[in-house]
Amino acid sequence: MAGFRALPSVDQLLQTETGQSLIAAHGRALVTSALRARLQAARAAIRDGADGTVEAARLPHLAAADLAAAAQSKLRPMLNLTGTVLHTNLGRAILADQAIAAASAAMAAPLALEFDLDGGGRGQRDDHLRGLLCDLTGAEDATIVNNNAAAVLIALNTLGQGRDALVSRGELIEIGGAFRMPDIMARAGVRLVEVGTTNRTHARDYQAALGPESGLILKVHTSNYRIEGFTAEVPAPELAAIARAAGVPLLNDLGAGSLVDLSAFGLRREPTVAEAVAEGADLVTFSGDKLLGGPQAGFIVGRRDLIAAINRNPLKRALRLDKIRIAALQATLRLYRDPDRLTERLPTLRFLARPQAEIAAQATRLAPQVAALLPDYSVDVCDCASQIGSGALPVDTIPSAGLRMNGAGGDAPNRLAARLRALPCPVIGHIHDGALILDLRCLDRDEDLLGALAG
Ligand SMILES: *Cc1c(COP(=O)(O)O)cnc(C)c1O
Repeated sequence: MAGFRALPSVDQLLQTETGQSLIAAHGRALVTSALRARLQAARAAIRDGADGTVEAARLPHLAAADLAAAAQSKLRPMLNLTGTVLHTNLGRAILADQAIAAASAAMAAPLALEFDLDGGGRGQRDDHLRGLLCDLTGAEDATIVNNNAAAVLIALNTLGQGRDALVSRGELIEIGGAFRMPDIMARAGVRLVEVGTTNRTHARDYQAALGPESGLILKVHTSNYRIEGFTAEVPAPELAAIARAAGVPLLNDLGAGSLVDLSAFGLRREPTVAEAVAEGADLVTFSGDKLLGGPQAGFIVGRRDLIAAINRNPLKRALRLDKIRIAALQATLRLYRDPDRLTERLPTLRFLARPQAEIAAQATRLAPQVAALLPDYSVDVCDCASQIGSGALPVDTIPSAGLRMNGAGGDAPNRLAARLRALPCPVIGHIHDGALILDLRCLDRDEDLLGALAG
């Protein structure tokens, strides 16, 4: 039986044809350390009685597999067939082609980010978005920060540092990921004054809490839960009137903040950003990567003097956006100027607008082809219920269709789910009623799923 002497040296391995092609793919440094690690493991195996010739023969393949595994990014593209259109853990909105092109161009060359092409002087990065945001929301002015959590933070800090912020007890939300309104208010330096009760808050509750220490009234969209039953809240226009009479601003945190009326897609009506502005809020905050369908960003729109104060806040510099996202946002917002083609161009709205019949036809088309690729599993067409996700219409679902997959053994759905997660293009579904469901709402092209499963 051959011993250590059957093992080649790292240099010898690098000279082989396999070694050379690995270097071409991964670079000399990574290949050398992968081979070293595998040689060390082979020596240990031989010490334990393994055959040197066998170990030597396995070594290049094992190193090649290690290198391939290490080269595969966990951030690789995947298929979101969970049925949740805006899945925070999967990166929320998919950008429109126009936004992707604008972002790529912004990455590849210098651009007039803070440079006035007309006068040659200094410009402001927010200027690329301000006009569009004002046009689309009817607001006087707008400013943009890293995300909506940052928008709420800087707005609270600017309007109310060292003073009271009045919030209904029914609106003290936790969004998840440690975004809890009371904690954000503490960090923003404002004193939380709870108003009313969990289920019912009246105008007189706000009026009783207003005083010389009041800095602002905050209204928060209860985006991920709904209070039902014996409830009362003060409508935004009435709250705006109360704030105005007391001489304090009203900040309305919309969260998802759609720019279009979702009832056009058969969804429940929620106030659009333009409506929230028209209802009299002094500032409105909303996200870029929720219903708006763009990259992560936080928008603050409203009164010019308050926006100017936010822009003077030193936090603004810490929370500002980079050129890549500004370019992508500009391209995304421009799509809204052509509402007729919006659902065609903006993936988020396209997915939400897809009728169930169309998705069911896709599922019927795909079922036999998917079954052929997964011979150990049954594949049936099923009805399912999609969700918007990311704190928009939390208890509403959209009728959808998909594939229901099952196999032998109680653990089959979990095993299949793990197998689909390990694909070069991972496919993510959800387990429901003892089966793996792939909701096809967010599948643009049949071949994307077939290609992924063939991998
Ligand atoms: C989602 C949400 C936020 C946080 O927005 P991000 O863009 O995730 O930072 C804040 N407030 C409300 C009401 C939300 O729904």
